[in-house]
Formats: sequence, structure tokens, C-alpha cells
Amino acid sequence: MDARQVEQVLAHLCGKGLFGDVRQWCESRYDCVYVVTCPDCGCRFVLSEAEFNELVERSAVLQVCGVSPASFEVRTPYPRPPLLS
Ligand SMILES: [Zn+2]
Repeated sequence: MDARQVEQVLAHLCGKGLFGDVRQWCESRYDCVYVVTCPDCGCRFVLSEAEFNELVERSAVLQVCGVSPASFEVRTPYPRPPLLS
């Protein structure tokens, strides 16, 4: 795991004051990566689950950039409640 990837994502997004768009990609049920796309220039960062979790924590502290609170849903291990779908 390379924590510097998290630094790169934060530096890029926070340099513009943006929240990245998050997609979860799974090769199989237990082999998932997170792709954070910059809404400004479209560049992508691929993060492991551990890196993404760190990015979420860092973003929660910063509050103004990183990954948006809405994207936290991505890593929720529970199915979305029917009322919200
Ligand atoms: Zn960008």
C-alpha cells in the first residue's frame, strides 16, 4: 500500500477545492478498487480499499475537498434501504 497516492488525490482535488467522483470497481466480491475521478479535468486515481478509507477520513477532516459525503455510501457494506432506492 502506498499512502502517497492518497496525498496525490488530496493535493490534486484540494488544489482546486473540488470533490472527486467515486466509483467502486470489483473484479470479484472481495477484490475491489476505488476510482476517484476529478470533475474538473477528468483525471483518475485508483485506490485500494485501505487507501480509499484513508482518503475518506482525511476528507471528513478537511470538509471542503476530497471525496464528498455522498460517496461514503460506496463503501457501506449493507444494501441500500428500499426506502432510499
Ligand atoms: Zn483535475
